[in-house]
Parts: sequence; structure tokens; C-alpha cells
Amino acid sequence: RASLNLTPDFVAMEAAVTAIRVALPVPLRQHFDYLLPPELEVSIGCRVRVPFGKRELVGIVWQLAVKPDVSEQQLKPVLAVIDQTPVLPALLRQLLSFAADYYHHPLGEVLTAALPALLREGRPLADYLPRAYRLTDSGKAANPQSFSRSAKQAELWQALTTQALDEATVKSHYSGSALKQLMAKELVESFQTEIAPYHYQGLAEPALQLTADQALAVTAVNQAQGSFRPFLLEGVTGSGKTEVYLQLIPSLLELGQQILVLLPEIGLTPQTLERFSKRFRAPVLVWHSNLSDGERLNCWLQAASGSAAVVIGTRSALFLPFRKLGLIIIDEEHDLSLKQQDGFRYHARDLAIKRAALECCPILLGSATPSLESLYNCQQGRFTKLTLTARASGQAMPQLELVDLKQQVLQYGLAAQSIQQMQQQLKLGKQVMLFLNRRGFAPALSCQDCGWLTECQRCSAFTTYHKHSRQLVCHHCGATRAVPRQCGGCGSTRLAPVGQGTEQLEEHLSVLFPEVPVTRLDRDSTRRKGAFASLLAEIQQPGPRLILGTQMLAKGHHFPFVTLVVIVDVDGALYSADFRAPEQLGQLLTQVAGRAGRGHDKGKVLLQTQHPEHALLQDIMLNGYAAFARSALLERQQTLLPPCQYMALFRAEAHQSELCQQWLQQVASYCQQQPQVQQLGPLLSPLERRAGKYRWQLHLYAAQRPLLHQLLSQVLAEVSQWPLSRKIKWQLDVDALDL
Ligand code: ADP
Repeated sequence: RASLNLTPDFVAMEAAVTAIRVALPVPLRQHFDYLLPPELEVSIGCRVRVPFGKRELVGIVWQLAVKPDVSEQQLKPVLAVIDQTPVLPALLRQLLSFAADYYHHPLGEVLTAALPALLREGRPLADYLPRAYRLTDSGKAANPQSFSRSAKQAELWQALTTQALDEATVKSHYSGSALKQLMAKELVESFQTEIAPYHYQGLAEPALQLTADQALAVTAVNQAQGSFRPFLLEGVTGSGKTEVYLQLIPSLLELGQQILVLLPEIGLTPQTLERFSKRFRAPVLVWHSNLSDGERLNCWLQAASGSAAVVIGTRSALFLPFRKLGLIIIDEEHDLSLKQQDGFRYHARDLAIKRAALECCPILLGSATPSLESLYNCQQGRFTKLTLTARASGQAMPQLELVDLKQQVLQYGLAAQSIQQMQQQLKLGKQVMLFLNRRGFAPALSCQDCGWLTECQRCSAFTTYHKHSRQLVCHHCGATRAVPRQCGGCGSTRLAPVGQGTEQLEEHLSVLFPEVPVTRLDRDSTRRKGAFASLLAEIQQPGPRLILGTQMLAKGHHFPFVTLVVIVDVDGALYSADFRAPEQLGQLLTQVAGRAGRGHDKGKVLLQTQHPEHALLQDIMLNGYAAFARSALLERQQTLLPPCQYMALFRAEAHQSELCQQWLQQVASYCQQQPQVQQLGPLLSPLERRAGKYRWQLHLYAAQRPLLHQLLSQVLAEVSQWPLSRKIKWQLDVDALDL
């Protein structure tokens, strides 16, 4: 009897409840398990609707048949299964799992970054697929005479007797009310169509004859087709990198494969977009943050169905569910905007390399000024380096010259020598570009009686004076206020701008050169939709012109008539505390300088500075970026900094400075258990206070990545239990770029 009693218990134990594990869009670092009711079936990667507290959420099934984290009583059932086939294929799930682990970020938020908003809402995918119209059986049997009183219905019916018509055709060529009436009479019905893979129809324009360097690069990458291999294409501005990208694509299109091109900021590169869409008779789609939800979903569907041949996109395009990816290209791979700077802080370049590895396809990173990370990877043999040494047009690189500002009387921030050379070029009908990385009229207003300066009340920063909008704007928190009439210190009314921003320089240039049109390119002048494109179009017109702008000018544009670039002021960046500042300044200077002499005429660059003897400027001027980068990398090796070491950064923010410091101190103490991870901090951030909150950081460095990441996992598990963690805002930034 006793043994009989035991049997049912044993059986019950064996059949212990299993659950499905669901990734949910919530910022929590934990699993969520649900019971799958027996009448429901689901596969991994499909969406399900589940209860979550008082809400319902749409999540993605991540694992089946898991032993639940919670007791059987606490386990809630799945409410509905949304998809029959996975919206996230296995390869993408692998990529997202990797990303969540690597950046120690909640999987749910990683998913949010990867899925288009409409799919997160939980309507079935079928709702978004294109529809078409055809005749029903009674429609086919209808007598043409029966439409004699409606010509429009007759017209549509007639068209449908030969073939079904897709939604777009019906909408653009036929009457909407005729369609409605035919459907009401059940003569016409709609049905769902599939999106078909693209059909490549060859080049739409002839390709250029490649230079020897370009041909070598194209051959090397072509040979890697079908296998994972990272390449770095280092080529001076104008050396024909884009042409290399373009010529890698046709052989993949012949095979029906897809190509992903990642660019740092798509709004800023209409010229690149145009070159890709003009070259191929195959669909080239774009992906960026200015698309509507519907447009994004459309691009997502076309990537998934294989109907998109090439997708040109910003960061998150790397999460698109391509049917068969054959190549990833990242242009301007050094650009900081490839790293997401809030929330899920991933680096698109690094994750794209992981994606290429999963897809077994080559990846090509291109830049005139490669990041030290990629150069280091070449040195270590992880990347293959390809080089374009000369400009494709055969045009010489611009000549660089330092203009010593010491003991000079400046006119509106410009040295006499600069003004004279500007005059010369403008007289010849050429364009002159001025680079000043400070928008607004002036960095602050100052009282001429007591020296008081306009400061942001919520940040440790001055407020920029914008003359056109008559406002003081904080460029850190965005706070604006009206320009005060009186000094906040002594009440004097003698307030004057200090320093010069682009708005002011624009005004001064029209005084110096009243006859010459000025085009200003900065965040303020390009805010309006379409403004950027129309300013770029202005610059493409021949004839004398002054072009003035901020770092926007450095972003890969082709300005054919610029023969002289004047770099007005970069001295502020020469003495920064950030170890990456020299690299970034080197890249910026080289990129801006590269805008000169891209047409038929040779270019020249004048760099105005109070510190002509500064080692960084000397190095760039005398040796160029490649040599400069080599010595910068050597320095990082000697000082044990990234990319030669792995790093992670904890940030803390709160209204009370001490809380941040205390919390980071707690992290630091915990991390001391791993003596091979070096610490720096807790330190106040360079911008100590932003939007009313104090900001602190703690840096962690290690020679071995696994060691650092293991410690991070341990510390994160601890942190969630500290009461102090709820009183501050904190974040972990792996491979942080902005310190
Ligand atoms: P990058 O992307 O390196 O700045 P681009 O591909 O934009 O360079 O090329 C710069 C200019 O040189 C463009 O006007 C391009 O049409 C031209 N060009 C590129 N490759 C060739 C080539 N092989 N023969 C002739 N012109 C070329």
C-alpha cells in the first residue's frame, strides 16, 4: 500500500510545471515566466500577450519549457499568442542576447530598441501586409451592362477581369467609391499578398573605372563573400571609399543577397543616399529616426521578406531582420554618433561586427580618420586593413598651415593673414569655408561693470546668447530664458556678448565681405525640415560664397568649389581632461580640412591658434592623421587606456551630490575584491551639474575582458539590493565614449 501511495507523488514530481520565458519591454534585469495554457501553441521568437501587474504587455517568447523562477501559484497564464511564425528569427535573438549580456542591459529594453514600435503594439503582422483586389465568382459572372450607369465601376471591373490589382494601383488609378460599391455588392474581394524578394535588373548607371588601390580593396572584400571577415578601409577624404562600397554591391545583388550600409547621421548625408539609389536597378531603402512608424515597419517587412536589396540606415538598422545579409558596410566608422548615448548604450559598429560573425558575411568599416579601436584591431590581426592613399580625382591633398594668433590684432576673430587669403580666393570666384564649433551668437553675456556672466541655473555651464531668437539657451539642458536687461550681480545695464559663435561670425562676415553670400550650417540654421538640403544645394552652385558652420561640416559632404578652409578656433579642445579628446580633435581637423580642394582646384587649410607649438597640432600638420593615430595609439598602450584595455563606467546622478559619491564609493569598495580591475574615481563629471542634478562617475579598467565583465555581473546583482540605489539615478556604460 505504501508503495502504491508513493507512485502518484513521483509522477507529479516528474511532470513538474514548466513555463515559457518571455522577454518583456520593461527596464528590469530579470526573467519573466508564464504558464502556457494547453490550448495554446507557440514557438520561440513569437509575440505573446501577457498580464504584468495591472497591465497587459506584449513580449517575445525567449525560451520554452523552463523550470519557472516562481512558484506554481504565482505563475500567470499567457493571454494570447500573436504570431504563428517568429517575428524575431534565431539569429537576431542570438544577437540581442549577446547585446544584453555584453552591455549588461535589461533584455526587454534591448528588444525595444530592436523592434519597430508598431510590432510592440501587438497587432498581427498580417494587418500590415499589403492587400490586393480581385473579382469574386459573381464578379466574374457579372454582366458588363449592369455597370452602364456607373462608368467608374465599369472601368475598375474591366481592369479586374484581366488581373488582380494591388492596393497602391487601385488607389492611384481608380475611384475609391467605385471600389467600395463593388465590394458592397460582393463583386470584388480583397486578399492579402506576400512581399516578394527583389529582382535585380543590373546597374542603372555605369560604374567608374577603379584606381589600382580601389580595385585591390574590392577584390579583397569580394573574396571574403560568404565568410565572416572584418576589413578597415582607410582612405583620405575624396579617395573614393564610397565608390568601393558601390562596386562591392552588384555581385551580391546577382546572388539575391542583401546589403546593410550604416551611416552615422542620415539626415546629414543626402548626397550619399542619392549615389546609392541612382546606381542600382534594385530597391534601396532608408532607415532612420525621422521615419514614421508606418515607414519603419514597411522597411522592416521589406528587409524580412528580402524585397529590400540595400538598406541605408542609422544605428538601429543593424537590428533589421534581413532574410539573407551578404555584406555590412559602415561609413565614417570613427563617428561618435554610432554609439547610442542614452538608455541602451550600444555601439553600432561593435554590434554590427557581431552580426556579421553570426551571418557569416564580411563587414567593411570605412573612414578617412579611423578610430583607434579599429586601428588597434588591425594591429592585433583581427581586422584586415585596406588603404586608399590618394584622392581618386588625382587632386593633391590640401596644404595645411598654422596661423599663430599670438600678438596679433584680430578682426572679428580672424587674423589679417586669414582675411587676406579669403579675399584672394573669393576674388577668384571660389568658395571659402570657416569652421567654428560653437553655435549661437556668443557663449555668454557678461556685465561690463562687475564681470558677472550669464549662467544656467540648473547646470554648471554658461548660457549661450542667441541673438535672432533673443534668448539665452543652455546647450546642456536646453533651458531657455529671455535675455535679461540688467546684470544679475550689480544691476548694471551694460551687458555685452563675450566670445564668438557662428551667428555672430555670420554677421561679421557680411560686414567684411558685403558682396559675398554667406551660408551658415549649424543645428539652428538646419532645424526646419528640408533646410539642410536646401543649404547644401546652395553650396553646390558655383560662384564666390562663404560657408560657415560647426562640426556638421565635417560629415562627409562633397563641396566641389571650396578652395580654402579656415579653422577659426579649436584651442579650447587642446587641453581637455578626456583621454579621447586628442583623437577626436585629430579626426575633426582632418575631416574639416578634407573639405578643401575636392573639385578641380587645389585646396588650402589655415588653422588659427594661440598654441602653434602644441604637439598635437604639430603632429597632425607635419605627419597627417595616420601617423598621428599611430603615436596616439602607442600612448594609449603606455598609459593602459582603451582600446588597449577594456573599460566600463558607472555614472550616478542626483540632486544631492553626496549621495552619488557615496553610491559610487560603495561600487568601488565592492569592486576592490577583484584587484586586477583598476579603478579611477569616484570623480565629479566634467559637467558637474546638469538640469539641477550633480553628476559623478567611476571608471573601471582591465586587461582582460572576461574578468571585467564577470565583476560587472556580480556588482549589478549587489547594486539592486542597496537602498541607496533607489535614491539616485545610475547607469553602467560599457566601452563608454563620452566621459
Ligand atoms: P570618399 O567616399 O573617400 O570621400 P568618393 O567615393 O566620394 O570618396 O569619391 C570622391 C570623388 O572622386 C567623387 O566625385 C567620385 O565620383 C570620384 N571618384 C571615386 N572613384 C573614382 C574613380 N575610380 N575614378 C574617377 N573618379 C572617382
